[in-house]
Amino acid sequence: SSRLFHPSDTVITTAHATIGGDNFVLMAGPDSIESADHVLAMGAAVQEAGATLLRGGSYKPRTSPYSFQGLGEAGLQMHRQAADALGMDMITEIMDTRDVEIVGQYTDIFQVGTRNMQNFSLLKALGQQSKPVALKRGMSASIDELLSAAEYIASEGNDQIILIERGIRTFDNKYTRNTMDVSAIPVLQELTHYPVLADPSHAAGVAHHVTSVGLAAVAAGAQGLMVEIHDHPEAAFVDGAQALTPAQFAELADKARTIHEIV
Ligand code: PEP
Repeated sequence: SSRLFHPSDTVITTAHATIGGDNFVLMAGPDSIESADHVLAMGAAVQEAGATLLRGGSYKPRTSPYSFQGLGEAGLQMHRQAADALGMDMITEIMDTRDVEIVGQYTDIFQVGTRNMQNFSLLKALGQQSKPVALKRGMSASIDELLSAAEYIASEGNDQIILIERGIRTFDNKYTRNTMDVSAIPVLQELTHYPVLADPSHAAGVAHHVTSVGLAAVAAGAQGLMVEIHDHPEAAFVDGAQALTPAQFAELADKARTIHEIV
């Protein structure tokens, strides 16, 4: 994972997206896949604003076992159909080694969430896959721990890795859900050749701070953003409080591109 062994930036290409180097990528969509119509509508909205990757979870890592856990394979099918209909690529979370085959049948990029950053069996299993892996920083993980987690994937042979800073736990989480560690972005880019993206939705945790936190991450050099959106945030199955409306996302996307051009 170190630049010492790979001085140039790793650039990852999927059918509709180029991630890394000087490129700026937008991954957006609902937190969770809710229905076929909904993911298609949300995909169309984020594509209109420039997103090339459609995000959405079908296997959800919920704090409570009684909360909505995702639609499972039915959700993967809806997600894939929406992405194909729109000409977008699909990114979705995987939590368990037992799901590598089924998720891999549908997704273009595997997403490893903050809670599984050190699920070493999962990282090794994804290291044996041929599709890119977006690895989110553990909410209490150091930068070295994140890089070691990436190394678990790379050491198995898969060097298509995207790092995502999504906010860490600090001493004050009264006003925001997590703290976007903007300084981690240039530090990671100095230490590693992998693309570094940011997820302001999970960092801020409240929609009205997502744009400013996202733009700060882009100003710090993030090579793309992952953003949650919903047309009716109050009715979202999961994390409605942090979802931008499609119009708010379009505004963020415009500003983010402008800032990316400057930096
Ligand atoms: C998500 O992106 O749906 C998610 C659960 O993110 P995180 O792992 O960063 O909490």
